[in-house]
Amino acid sequence: MQDLTEGVAQFRRDVYPAKADLFARLATTHRPATLFISCSDARVVPELITQSDPGELFVIRTAGNLVPAHTPGPDGVAASIEYAVTVLGVGEIVVCGHSACGAMTALAERHDLSGAPAIAGWLRHADASVARTSAGAEPPEVDALVRENVRAQLANLATHPSVARALAARSVTLRGWVYDIPAGTVTELDAIRPAVPAA
Ligand code: ZN
Repeated sequence: MQDLTEGVAQFRRDVYPAKADLFARLATTHRPATLFISCSDARVVPELITQSDPGELFVIRTAGNLVPAHTPGPDGVAASIEYAVTVLGVGEIVVCGHSACGAMTALAERHDLSGAPAIAGWLRHADASVARTSAGAEPPEVDALVRENVRAQLANLATHPSVARALAARSVTLRGWVYDIPAGTVTELDAIRPAVPAA
């Protein structure tokens, strides 16, 4: 396992000096253009796959890149969405699913989650994703569920008042992506076109 302390030392030694001006600017500036919502999966690294610098992505990561629909009451995901949209004024929101997602696999393959009640409860936020996918296949195929889940979470996102307001004002764009881990590709949904042309 990589030693995190050594990683920090390497950052200070090899990475920080080249970006010292950027970090000095970021000390007093926080103006990300994009809210990026991805799975917590360690293999999905938003800044790496989009080649973004510090300060460019406001990131929310949840198991299965799930975005609970708006409900009254305190909610950490909702608060982060509202902060990104209303306070920071991001112009686009990306919900990024990925291949071989453990959360989507558990749902597609109907894993027994009775010993993991928090996971089981959280994954209920993908009920609509499963319903959308199951219409075509029973049980749903993982890749199809990953795609439909991104679409379902974009729909959930639009129920948040801050997002609804920004959509009405045409000040924000919602985008659905699926990242393929072994291929290193990103496919944009709805348009169903590669975000980056295949080599
Ligand atoms: Zn995942």
